[in-house]
Amino acid sequence: MPMTNYERIVEKISKLSNTEKSEVERLIEAKRARLSGLISKEGAAQIVAAELGINFDNQKLKIEELLPGMKKVNVIGKIINLYPIRTFKTKKGDEGKVANLVIADETSNIKIVLWDTKDISLIESGELTEGKTIEIINGSMRDNEVHLSSFSEIKLLEIDIENVKTEKNFKIEKIEKIKKGESVKIRAFITQSFDVKFFYVCPNCGKKVIKEGNFFICNEHGNVPAERRALISLVLDDGTGAIRAVAFQENVEKLGLNIENESNLINQRQELLGKEFIFYGSIKENKLFNNLEMNIESIEEVNLDNLILELEKNEN
Ligand SMILES: [Zn+2]
Repeated sequence: MPMTNYERIVEKISKLSNTEKSEVERLIEAKRARLSGLISKEGAAQIVAAELGINFDNQKLKIEELLPGMKKVNVIGKIINLYPIRTFKTKKGDEGKVANLVIADETSNIKIVLWDTKDISLIESGELTEGKTIEIINGSMRDNEVHLSSFSEIKLLEIDIENVKTEKNFKIEKIEKIKKGESVKIRAFITQSFDVKFFYVCPNCGKKVIKEGNFFICNEHGNVPAERRALISLVLDDGTGAIRAVAFQENVEKLGLNIENESNLINQRQELLGKEFIFYGSIKENKLFNNLEMNIESIEEVNLDNLILELEKNEN
C-alpha cells in the first residue's frame, strides 16, 4: 500500500526528531484529543513537529507532503503543464504578469504560481518547458498552491523523474466552501437542467469550428469534417449551496442521456431532476453572471460501498 500523506509526515517527524514513529503518532493523537478533534491529523502533526523543534522550512519535501500554511517550501518536480502567461493591471496601473504551471513527482502534483519577473522570464525565454524537471526554493503555500515571490528561486535540474503522478487531485468539498480555481469532487443533486445544446469541433485540434454554408472551417486546419459535441448546463445542490455546472459529450452521456435521440432530449433532461451523482470538475468564475461555475470533468454514480469505504478511511 502506498503511504498516505499523514504517514509520510509521521515518518519525517520521526526521522528528524529521533523519536519512534509510534511515539510521534501518540503525541499527534494526544494533541488532537486536547483540541477536541477540531483539527485534522495533518494539522496536529504540524503542531507536534513544531513542539519537537522541527522546522519543515527548507526541508526537501515530496509534493504530497506539502501542507497549507507551510513557508519556505523546497520541492522538486517535473513540469507537466505550462499555461500561457497572463497579464493584469496592478494597483499602480502598471502591467503585471503571472504564470501558472503544474509540477509532478511520484507522489502527487501541484500548481505553482509565479509572480516574479525573473521567474516568468524563464518561460518567455523558453528555458522552462513541459517535461523539464525543476527545483523550487523558498516558495510558500497558499491554499493548495505553491507561490513564488522575488525571494524564491527556480533551478533547472538535469534529471528526469519517471512515473510522475499526473492525475488531477480533486478535493472533496461542500459547495458553500468551493473557491475559484479549485479542482473539486462534490456529491450533489441536480435541481435544474437546461436544454442540451450542440456545437461542432475540429477533429484535429478539438477547437470550435465555424459553419459556412455546408462546410465547417477551423481557424487552423481550414475545411474539416467537423464532429458534433453536446453540452448541458445544470444546477447542482448538496444542501450547503448550489452551483451552476456544465457537462460535455461523454459526461452528458454519463448522466444517462441518449444524445442520438435528439427529439426526446427534453423529456430525458427533465428526468435528471432530483438525481444524485458525484461530480469532478474545476471551478471557474463566470464573469457575465459574477458567480462560480463548475466545468464538469467526470461523473460517477453514487456507490454506497465506496462511500462507506471513504468514511472508514476518514475515521482512521
Ligand atoms: Zn483544427
